[in-house]
Amino acid sequence: MELKIIETDKKKQKPSGALGFGKYFTDHMFVMEYDDGKWHDARIQPYAPFTLQPCCSVFHYGQGVFEGTKAYKNKKGEVRLFRPKDNLLRLNDSSDRVCIPPIDVDFVLDALKKLVMLDSDWIPTDEGTSLYIRPSVIATENALGVHAAKSYIFFIILSPSGSYYAHGLEPVRLCVEEKYVRAAKGGTGHHKVIGNYAASLKAGEQAALKGYDQVMWLDGKEHKYVEEVGSMNIFFVFDGVVKTPALLGSILPGITRRSVIELLKSEGVTVEECEIPIADVIDGAVSGRLEEVFGTGTAAVISPVGDFGYRGKDYAVGGGKMGKITKHVYETLTGIQTGKIADPFGWVIKL
Ligand SMILES: *Cc1c(COP(=O)(O)O)cnc(C)c1O
Repeated sequence: MELKIIETDKKKQKPSGALGFGKYFTDHMFVMEYDDGKWHDARIQPYAPFTLQPCCSVFHYGQGVFEGTKAYKNKKGEVRLFRPKDNLLRLNDSSDRVCIPPIDVDFVLDALKKLVMLDSDWIPTDEGTSLYIRPSVIATENALGVHAAKSYIFFIILSPSGSYYAHGLEPVRLCVEEKYVRAAKGGTGHHKVIGNYAASLKAGEQAALKGYDQVMWLDGKEHKYVEEVGSMNIFFVFDGVVKTPALLGSILPGITRRSVIELLKSEGVTVEECEIPIADVIDGAVSGRLEEVFGTGTAAVISPVGDFGYRGKDYAVGGGKMGKITKHVYETLTGIQTGKIADPFGWVIKL
């Protein structure tokens, strides 16, 4: 397939104040459509609305998937991507779960690089900032029957985003959720399927009303094992041993999660992927054996957890302060992403 590039003749004004997250979009986007069994009309074009009919299938049954990755620009002006191919491979896995046809990963990765370079003057350079990259696929068949659509749009949009930590790396407060579940084994929780996020909003709102920042999700069947926090994977340090929930079907296989495991293992630190009962987490917090808890995900990279609420009681972790391992993985991963630290893993693509 040929990639067409149609440059805008009306560049937008860049935002001046705080960027926040996902509020501003660059001058261009990548789009291609799927009809009659193939992707076609791949192009980089000016950022613009889609025209879709009210009967368009994604509006009714949520057949859609997405990804999230970032480009960084450092003070030297280098533009760097972090494991972007892993995102596109995961997109295809997610697509397969909801009967969306796969994309050609190498072709799209090449288009993604060209798109980022075309809009590279939008990449912020302040500490902690980045260009958030959002690839998505939506079903666009004009029909109300419940079946896999015959047509789709794949697109990539870019959003310059501010530091996740406006006030430094502050520990977050989690609310352990026992009523609502994010995902069940056999469902779509292992994939970045759009409906998962609508299903998580209610618990998030209720946690916020009680003064917490994020939800700590338990397994869907027994409400006994920890799965994730908000839209992040979770790590615990018990007596110096790092543990994270094993990927048993209802947990999103995070690329940041995988990177933390690979990083720590390369340093000789034991990382166990296992089932983690919430009862052990409570016991650990009470006895002090639980030294650190942190979340991992593209948006925050690493998010230290200061305390969590369970059945009306709050439990502090590590005295409510960020722990040593948390700080180390944060500094190492962000260092590799921005080029402050060498990348021995081959995770970074320099553009
Ligand atoms: C995207 C996501 C993550 C983190 O994945 P990364 O690849 O590290 O960004 C974790 N949990 C959920 C539910 C997610 O959607």
